[in-house]
Amino acid sequence: MSETSHATRQTVLYCPYCAEETLFPLETGGWECRSCMRAFSVTFLGLSPRGRSGESDISRQESA
Ligand SMILES: [Zn+2]
Repeated sequence: MSETSHATRQTVLYCPYCAEETLFPLETGGWECRSCMRAFSVTFLGLSPRGRSGESDISRQESA
């Protein structure tokens, strides 16, 4: 087992699309959700900058 192949893989507990827990790792390094049949990968971009108040995150509104 080589640690380098799994170094960039992030553990995902819930599907970001349907919020189900039916996630299975793909050989290509991503994840597969067997509830909505979506394949995706999670990339670690780095630590978020300190001192954020979170105001910018609330500005986006979703209307039905
Ligand atoms: Zn899903």
